[in-house]
Amino acid sequence: MTGGSDRDLKGATRLVSAGRRPEWTGTPGYPEAVVNPPVWRASTHLHPDSAALNAGNRINADGHFHYGARGGPTQWALAEALTRIEPGAFGTILYPTGVAAIAGALMTVLRPGDVLLMTDNAYEPSRMMAHGLLRDFGIETRWFDPMDTAGFAAAICERTRCALLESPGSLTMEVQDVPALAAIARKRGVTTVLDNTWAGPTGFAALTHGVDITLLALTKHVGGHSDLMMGSAAAGEQWYGKLRKTSQALGYVVSPDDAALALRGLRTMDVRLERQTANALKVAAWLAGRAEVARVLCPMLPGSPGHELWKRDFNGGCGLFSVVFRGGSTEARDRMIDALELFGIGYSWGGFESLVTPLNPAPVRSATTWPPAGTDPDDRFGIRLYVALEDPDDLIADLERGLAAWRNG
Ligand SMILES: *Cc1c(COP(=O)(O)O)cnc(C)c1O
Repeated sequence: MTGGSDRDLKGATRLVSAGRRPEWTGTPGYPEAVVNPPVWRASTHLHPDSAALNAGNRINADGHFHYGARGGPTQWALAEALTRIEPGAFGTILYPTGVAAIAGALMTVLRPGDVLLMTDNAYEPSRMMAHGLLRDFGIETRWFDPMDTAGFAAAICERTRCALLESPGSLTMEVQDVPALAAIARKRGVTTVLDNTWAGPTGFAALTHGVDITLLALTKHVGGHSDLMMGSAAAGEQWYGKLRKTSQALGYVVSPDDAALALRGLRTMDVRLERQTANALKVAAWLAGRAEVARVLCPMLPGSPGHELWKRDFNGGCGLFSVVFRGGSTEARDRMIDALELFGIGYSWGGFESLVTPLNPAPVRSATTWPPAGTDPDDRFGIRLYVALEDPDDLIADLERGLAAWRNG
């Protein structure tokens, strides 16, 4: 779905107003009768006559009733809202999960015989897609060190069609020089796809920094309440139509109920992000001062890999970061996790509640190593924290409890 009329509004205002078209929130005589676009559940769309039905087969355009697989007003409202908060976007496609968005974008850009360059700190299911589905379709993946821009340029060959970036990367949280990587790729005819789930469009305006297609797991910040799964891909006009065609061919559609929940989450996303970023900074800085901690991998914290790039390119942060302990063991790490009372143990993030998972990047690195070169090899056990909306002092007290358990094996 492409963006609607665009007045000169700031980001926070767009988050509130985007996607609330009168034809989706009102009824004849009562334009904008309700605030939120209602949930339009439909497989069949009924047409006034056969001429209208036939026109729908020919036109295949956004925002027209035709068949449930092309969505309805609830999904259109969400896609339009996402387009309007993504600077440089012509349109946004919705997918049933973040992983489906990654698959939808890569299957749009890549063809058999192509080479995909993937950042070494990519989300694990992206790596699994490369080793499985993409390989089986005749696509070769090569890996690059996220912090080695010259190495990225050198890795591009004649068959390289696409580069998958992720910044900050999963688990190890390196912020990449996305503008430089995108510029190199463009010059060499390589399409860039960025997994921008960590910062989201309000934190990092990917398309205006040269990226061709930007992906989000809406499951995280947009959903914001740990109760839905969805993904999106936004792009300029050149790629939007192609993404849409692939998505329709694969039969991707999201439920209108989930679209309504995602729209509800979107309205408060910037205040949640602002608060969790402040909380995360406080917790991360406290952890960095602890004797048990070797490194805190948090893009907002000086000393974290790519922190200067974060300062240069980003408008905000989020609550997701990693902590590496000095020495220790798997058992000590698990004792710490189990001692935490306020951090839920579980995957995903982006909700209102804080979470913890073990950190183990070693099996999912190809072009780099874990622990990183030049660091103490004993400092390799860690956790990934998602700091959310609780009082940070309570979270710190909880982590203090956790560190006591870590020490007292
Ligand atoms: C969670 C996540 C995804 C996938 O989202 P799902 O909706 O869980 O499929 C993709 N990329 C990143 C960076 C993520 O953290």
